[in-house]
Amino acid sequence: MGKLVPSQLNSLLNSRLNLKPSLPICIVFVITVITIIIFIVSILITYIAYTTPTFYWISLDVTKNDVQGDAHLLNLNGNFVLIDTGHMVESDNLINNLKKRNVQHLQKIIITHAHIDHYGGLTTLLKNFSVKEVYFNFPTKAQCIKEPWGCNLSDLDKIQQALQTFRVKLLPLRAGDKFDYTTSASNGKYASKEEINSHIYRKLSLEIIYAFDGINTPAGDGTTDLNDTSAIILIRHGFLKFLFTGDINFKIGRWIADREKDGDKDKENKGELIGKVDVLKVPHHAATALPDINFFNRFVGRDVIITAPLKLWESNRCQQFKDIITILENDSNLNHKVNLYINGANGDIKVRSYAGYFYKIKVEKNIY
Ligand SMILES: [Zn+2]
Repeated sequence: MGKLVPSQLNSLLNSRLNLKPSLPICIVFVITVITIIIFIVSILITYIAYTTPTFYWISLDVTKNDVQGDAHLLNLNGNFVLIDTGHMVESDNLINNLKKRNVQHLQKIIITHAHIDHYGGLTTLLKNFSVKEVYFNFPTKAQCIKEPWGCNLSDLDKIQQALQTFRVKLLPLRAGDKFDYTTSASNGKYASKEEINSHIYRKLSLEIIYAFDGINTPAGDGTTDLNDTSAIILIRHGFLKFLFTGDINFKIGRWIADREKDGDKDKENKGELIGKVDVLKVPHHAATALPDINFFNRFVGRDVIITAPLKLWESNRCQQFKDIITILENDSNLNHKVNLYINGANGDIKVRSYAGYFYKIKVEKNIY
């Protein structure tokens, strides 16, 4: 072979190394890496999906007849729990809504307090669904008679009778009680401590933060009206927190905000403090007599749900709450917009948690 000049050597090297056809090899490599990543991620997602308790909450719209009312359907790892049952005039709406969602058995019905817009659908529900247990602190006759917001003893008698007729267990709401749903509790068996600890970042629990009887309360002069006997319920799912506040008013609102401020864990309500929550069920339908700004400053995070009919929401009775939110949005402690969801404007409001890491809210309609 004769001596090669540099240009000939270059072209020979290029043809031997065949650089251009190596491009598809790069593409094959990239595709392989992407496929492996997708495979690992889907294995991880499947693992998390199978080992994580599921949670969603639907604030059912029970304001269709222009009445205020609460009815919150919770799915805690496959177990249906209902917090409050709406006003009596919304009973049929509530029943149809639950049937439409294929609810057949309710593990728990929790009545936060003895007002008709919270217990109203209970007897009709007991007639139509299989219910394992009802949690309800009935007021005494004396309390009922002096209640300024109204209290109907004959309704309460009918509920007691229905509970007996349908042989549904009646249980008291007690501050500090905690129900763990981290592993499936569908057979009534809750998780052991070891099981819960193995799911430490994906825990799912329902906790009664506050439940007093209206006579022996920590607020003010030691007595309150029925609104201030509302049970306050906290759901924790992984990193997320959802707070239900019944109809608590100023007195207990102030007490619970102070309790957070003082970090006082050793009085009636043991357990961790709450802090800002991801979704707050606003107390008292966002209407007058609700807690003051200190309460909302403690708990309001990104989203709030308001169980008010449209007429109430657009009336002056909700102005105080709207003003509080405006102040908080501009406060350095929060400094972001708060999303308001209102049953009267949005219909059913569904909050779905994804593995306790993040959540999404979907509404049935949007009239604004
Ligand atoms: Zn109410």
